[in-house]
Amino acid sequence: MKSCLIVDDSKVIRKVARRILEDMQFKIDEAEDGRMALEACQRETPDVVLLDWNMPVMNGMDFLDALRDQPLAKRPVVVFCTTENDMAHIRAAIEAGADEYIMKPFDREIIEAKFAQVGLV
Ligand SMILES: [Mg+2]
Repeated sequence: MKSCLIVDDSKVIRKVARRILEDMQFKIDEAEDGRMALEACQRETPDVVLLDWNMPVMNGMDFLDALRDQPLAKRPVVVFCTTENDMAHIRAAIEAGADEYIMKPFDREIIEAKFAQVGLV
């Protein structure tokens, strides 16, 4: 069973993503900001991180920068999740280490398509 860490400050988004990903047979962990996500990755690195852009405490970009500096045994696949329909943001995220991106609002079809592109399903 593959594991997914869902990182989003919105409880509703985390719930929606959890429902979809549990349906896809992923083991789920949740974090509500980048700092908590980093701690979760240090405890147990997931196979994939579904990462929000705008969050308090530590946002998605700062999480990506911090993750790069971590001496982790494996590197999780990072799928960036944003409402910003802005190529500059997406390019910055990819340059910072994100593997793919998803536009909100997402559904199961979108997540499955993107996860397939990065070899997760
Ligand atoms: Mg947010």
